[in-house]
Amino acid sequence: MHGDNLGHHWELLKSLLPLYQALTTVQLGDGRSTLLWTNVWTGDEALEDRFPRLFSHCINKGCTQLQLSDQPDMRLSTFSRTKDKLDTSAIYRLLKARGQENYPTSTFIWRNAAPPRVQMFFWLLLEGRIQCRSNLFPKKIVDSPACLICGAAHETPDHIIFQCPIAVQFWSAIGIQSTSGLQCSNWQNIQKIRGIPDDQYSAFVILCCWELWKRRNASVFRDEQINLRQLILSCKTQANLWRPRMPKKSKKVIEDWTKVLDSAVNTISM
Ligand SMILES: [Zn+2]
Repeated sequence: MHGDNLGHHWELLKSLLPLYQALTTVQLGDGRSTLLWTNVWTGDEALEDRFPRLFSHCINKGCTQLQLSDQPDMRLSTFSRTKDKLDTSAIYRLLKARGQENYPTSTFIWRNAAPPRVQMFFWLLLEGRIQCRSNLFPKKIVDSPACLICGAAHETPDHIIFQCPIAVQFWSAIGIQSTSGLQCSNWQNIQKIRGIPDDQYSAFVILCCWELWKRRNASVFRDEQINLRQLILSCKTQANLWRPRMPKKSKKVIEDWTKVLDSAVNTISM
């Protein structure tokens, strides 16, 4: 390969790397190909997203220093068709969607201060592609599409975000009284949440959906039951973690988010 060509490919690869990392989670084997900070190998988040301040002090950001087993690490991507085949048309649509700044949906998803991985989750949610049971059932990965939390027949993305009882209670506590008929693909038409500023509005929506998804995962995979109060408090914790990501002029929205979340906690404890 010519030197120029190689350089071009390298640039392209480098620009795709963060996206690749956001798309895949690692099942730890020997840890050799796992980036300690930027890959997701424990829970739902990369350590850099969970501990942003610590990450900024970390000298070797690419370190891979865990020795855990003899098996090679296995990467699991939301875009895997099978174990080693990627759904390239979906990846293409994703890249295209990110480039289309003028599309209202693209702006809603990507033009805010949410961490890229969480934006990616939200994009998948809007596309109906998150790894919920109604999506895993046809691939024979789970033996039933039913919701393990409430027993509803189909655990669809909309079910997790708007219909599962905890989700209904959550939205009601922060001011969306009725979630019946709401769909993730239709955020533009969903009633604005009172007290949440227009600036970074979608970041708040994304944060709420992300915490609902993490709560679902905690319950499904780890049998942890997080109640409504804890869920709202975890939104508050997450909001504070996102503060350093906010542009200077937007940092104050975190106080407004906190007010809404605090008053939601107060309504439920009465
Ligand atoms: Zn449910």
